[in-house]
Amino acid sequence: MDAIVLDIEHYHLINEIYGRSEGDRILKKVASMIKAELGDGYGIACRCVADTFYIYYSGESDYCSFAERILDEIAAKSFKNAKIRLRIGINKNVDKNDPPEQWFDYAKLACDGLRGDYTRQIAYYDSEAHDKQLYHERLIRDIDMGIANRDFIVFYQPKYGIEGERPVLRSAEALIRWMHPELGMISPGDFIPLFESNGLVQKLDRFVWEEVGTQIAEWKKKFGFALPVSVNVSRIDIFNPNLEDNLLGILEKNGLSTDELLLEITESAYSDGAEHLIEVVNSLRKRGFRIEMDDFGSGYSSLNMLTTIPIDVLKMDMKFVSNMLRDEKSLKLCELVMDISRFLGVPVVAEGVEEKDQLDKLKSMGCEIIQGYYFSRPLPADQFESLIEKEMALSEGEKGRE
Ligand code: C2E
Ligand code: MG
Ligand code: MG
Repeated sequence: MDAIVLDIEHYHLINEIYGRSEGDRILKKVASMIKAELGDGYGIACRCVADTFYIYYSGESDYCSFAERILDEIAAKSFKNAKIRLRIGINKNVDKNDPPEQWFDYAKLACDGLRGDYTRQIAYYDSEAHDKQLYHERLIRDIDMGIANRDFIVFYQPKYGIEGERPVLRSAEALIRWMHPELGMISPGDFIPLFESNGLVQKLDRFVWEEVGTQIAEWKKKFGFALPVSVNVSRIDIFNPNLEDNLLGILEKNGLSTDELLLEITESAYSDGAEHLIEVVNSLRKRGFRIEMDDFGSGYSSLNMLTTIPIDVLKMDMKFVSNMLRDEKSLKLCELVMDISRFLGVPVVAEGVEEKDQLDKLKSMGCEIIQGYYFSRPLPADQFESLIEKEMALSEGEKGRE
């Protein structure tokens, strides 16, 4: 048996435009069509509120012709030629263990999802999509608690310079992880896009920048030199008028300079609102910040725009590197990115390098900086610290031999 919620799109406008009596006629028409549809078979229907009908029924396999029949009938009988559209949400094969209200709540969810969609008038409840929605709601609810309880942890992934014989630790990228007390470890791919869609990412990024600022200063004090760390700046942050002041404030608080905290901005941000972004990036660069264009090749920068884009480093999109040894097209794209970087006069960071063969190939193409599992996965601060110590020991050893 199926639970169906049927709604009339913009019903209040129909009342306003054609008058209440025409609105009533349409409702009656829809009701009688539903009644006829149920016929003598097993099913039950009611008008729940206003223009919303609930139907419990096992009928059509796809319900399209059901919707068509209702619409044809209304078109034929409507003397004012009212144009109406239906929204039909269907919870197919309801779970009899759930309470009946829930059968219809789910059908209503599917129905509401059609609001403003002019390409479809029927939607099926999808439990997976619903679970995802609930999961997202949970993450939104828990973000403040996560920040307050320090459940968000910054990991660091090293970037190595590969020009010489021995790869040299040059810098790191800060990558956030959420150690949720009940849901376990959540990776940024699961929450960053969500928090970008509702603006909450700004809070999180601010938290990360603060953490990273303190961490760089701590390492600087401990080791006597600063290892630059890049942080991700979301395209949403670009619209914050206080972005520059916030970043400068963090530097000032920790006694750092702009070449110690690098900024990664994803390429797709450049295609979103290019003019504003270029303005913001130009201003940040004037203050001394260095900008790395992240995931280069994944977005839609036109070649023309590239000439005006202010950047200091290109980070090649990981998927080119992943496929470069398997597929000729990816290899060619890697070469193209290298050519573009030479044209722009900026270095390339290749991300996602997992194998020695990839590294060798990239090195032969002139790529100078590598980030990827081949060297190290992103590490918590204490483990990254051991990596710095190892690096220092190696370079001390080299100096000793000179
Ligand atoms: P991204 O900035 O392009 O970061 C690189 C991603 O590639 C990271 O995933 C990193 O763990 C992963 N990675 C690095 N090397 C390898 C490798 O060799 N193989 C594979 N398969 N993956 C590798 P992660 O940490 O899951 O982050 C995913 C994305 O989430 C990041 O992509 C970034 O866009 C976003 N993100 C992470 N932390 C933050 C943050 O603090 N703020 C914002 N706004 N976005 C963040
Ligand atoms: Mg990045
Ligand atoms: Mg990237």
